[in-house]
Amino acid sequence: MGEIDCRNFETKAVHGESGFESRTGAISYPIYQSSTFRHEGLNKGTGYDYSRTGNPTRDEVEKTVAALENGRACLAYSSGMAAISSVLTIFKGGDHIIVSDDLYGGTYRIFEEIYEHYGIEVTYTDTTSTENIEKELRENTKAIYLETPTNPLMKITDIREVSKLAKEHNTLLIVDNTFMTPYYQKPLELGADIVLHSGTKYLCGHNDALAGFVILNDERLIEKLRFIQNSVGAVLAPFDSWLILRGIKTLHIRLDRQQENAIKIANFLKKHKKITKVLYPGLEEHVGHDILKSEASGFGAMISFYVDSKETVEKVLESVKVIIFAESLGGVESLITYPYTQTHADIPDDIRKRLGVTDKLLRFSVGIENVDDLIKDLDKALQA
Ligand SMILES: *Cc1c(COP(=O)(O)O)cnc(C)c1O
Repeated sequence: MGEIDCRNFETKAVHGESGFESRTGAISYPIYQSSTFRHEGLNKGTGYDYSRTGNPTRDEVEKTVAALENGRACLAYSSGMAAISSVLTIFKGGDHIIVSDDLYGGTYRIFEEIYEHYGIEVTYTDTTSTENIEKELRENTKAIYLETPTNPLMKITDIREVSKLAKEHNTLLIVDNTFMTPYYQKPLELGADIVLHSGTKYLCGHNDALAGFVILNDERLIEKLRFIQNSVGAVLAPFDSWLILRGIKTLHIRLDRQQENAIKIANFLKKHKKITKVLYPGLEEHVGHDILKSEASGFGAMISFYVDSKETVEKVLESVKVIIFAESLGGVESLITYPYTQTHADIPDDIRKRLGVTDKLLRFSVGIENVDDLIKDLDKALQA
């Protein structure tokens, strides 16, 4: 991008790390669909040897995502869970991690069903209160793991406050930034050590690829994670790296429209007689609205809401026509999910009930369709 520093977020998103490929001038960064790279001679090479270790298209998406999060380095994985899993391998048996109690179901599952077997101790707590976290700190606490906003209850944690606590106690602060994206929230700047993404969601934006990212600043940790990435091998494929690069080009305009639609939909739902509660951090009355406003530049486009009965849940899921009943989030298509039996089915019933992931809760990922169509679709489905 030459010497001129015109690198505001939108420019970085559109142009990526390099702007174009220097050898050919290709504007769309080429897909280096090659597993291996020729060496000219002994100790002579291009810097690439084998695609698990490094691939130019993956490098480009890694550098682009690092630039968007204002981080020193990024590593790209085959899914969000592969990214989370790789980060967790830096811990060892006997280490303790404090984790948000409202959490993506897959993340709960990996802590409970996989890393538990390796002796990693986990305490779940409501991280919206820094005091709660402080109470759970132990000698062997090595990390605090946050989702904010949480999935699906949209609870907001004060990243700045928790990062102070983490620094005092010499523990790492890990933040899953999937819901906000770097466009709205940059956890590294708020004091986090490691930022995670399911790139499958907003970064991709089109429901056509799986991806995961880890972004960080600490050189020692970067080296360690690169070693783990190469050793374990859950790397992002060249074509999928390209799909994410392509998706990121429109991240800011997609999100702006998604958020604009979400605000209108949240206000519609709020007034509907079959809706008992709307959880959207963009609403002024949402607990955590002010914290999010002070740490992020937007509220995102994820809305969770409670309906009056399980029958209404069934009717809505069966009757929506524009909105699609499907897992996942963050894409241009509006999707509605039922966390109770879908994304959060692996969380024990008593915990789900205590948290509020009930059989009356729906989660709505607002897309970029015409907002009146979306509202009409919801209104009809609620009347059905
Ligand atoms: C989807 C999701 C994940 C898991 O990512 P995959 O790409 O599906 O593996 C992790 N965290 C959050 C908040 C998610 O929404």
